[in-house]
Amino acid sequence: ESVISRIAAGEVIQRPVSAVKELVENSLDANSTSINVVVKDGGLKLIQVSDDGHGIRYEDLPILCERHTTSKLSRFEDLQSIKSMGFRGEALASMTYVGHVTVTTITKAQLHGYRVSYRDGVMEHEPKACAAVKGTQIMIENLFYNMTARRKTLQNSADDYSKIVDLLSRFAVHYKNVGFSCRKHGAARADVHTVASSSRLDAIRSVYGASVAQNLMTIEASDSDPSSSVFCMEGFISNSNYFAKKITVLLFINDRLVECSALKRAIEIVYAATLPKASKPFIYMSIVLPPEHVDVNIHPTKREVSLLNQEVIIEKIQLAVELQLRNSNE
Ligand code: ADP
Ligand code: MG
Repeated sequence: ESVISRIAAGEVIQRPVSAVKELVENSLDANSTSINVVVKDGGLKLIQVSDDGHGIRYEDLPILCERHTTSKLSRFEDLQSIKSMGFRGEALASMTYVGHVTVTTITKAQLHGYRVSYRDGVMEHEPKACAAVKGTQIMIENLFYNMTARRKTLQNSADDYSKIVDLLSRFAVHYKNVGFSCRKHGAARADVHTVASSSRLDAIRSVYGASVAQNLMTIEASDSDPSSSVFCMEGFISNSNYFAKKITVLLFINDRLVECSALKRAIEIVYAATLPKASKPFIYMSIVLPPEHVDVNIHPTKREVSLLNQEVIIEKIQLAVELQLRNSNE
């Protein structure tokens, strides 16, 4: 049973960055305003995510890392959206099969916090009372300790760390009301650092630098024709003074970080046709759609989405991008 669970867990948590993503999404779901990430050895030695969210109740700790334990089902309006996010209640459980998980947490109703460690889906001991300020800290140590082959393929810790920094950079831009930090264990300087309640442009400036932020323009598109679909998009796209070696697309659909290669390609085409010299743009887009219009690929680590009426939406976005590029070029 445990071998099967481990293999399944290794599918959900493919690399250190997949664990970080799940932990940060949990912190966001807990209404945190501050999320701090510490990483050692590209995440293989240690991943630590601390937040100031609502915490986890004492009575929930024993089953926290059992598979399919989730406190979120009731918050979903319909079954469709549960399906589209997939893998509910799977992330923390999976981590306990491929690493050592320690949770420290305190809720508003408690005078002190609790700390407890998990292995293979179960608590290793009763929760121990401890000092805690607010929120939750989750620590994953020795990720993939029981998966020798996986550890071998993940020897490049710089590569894994840069994936984690990239992930946090994206979250920090979209969740501008949350302060983020990401640093290597023991490092004085954070590699991502934003303050809560920044403007989006300030968040972009903190994370991607002034040269990116100063070359951006706002963009908007929407479609309220109920016969096709209902969507709205807003964001930033880079102008003709922005040059980069590769395209950067930060895409959030219904506040979830996703990838949509069709949209990415479509935008690149518009740039190549309109601003050939700046054809590797920086794009931030936030799209809101009815949840049942978003289809996330079954695989938990690939957040490639396809959208209902995707052609229509992509065309509207292409048009908006083209208009904005032409206007700014005049
Ligand atoms: P899911 O997010 O799909 O519900 P997870 O395995 O990621 O499943 O988490 C299981 C549960 O643990 C969550 O539903 C939530 O109740 C609780 N939880 C996890 N992380 C946090 C956190 N940082 N703050 C508060 N609750 C948390
Ligand atoms: Mg989760």
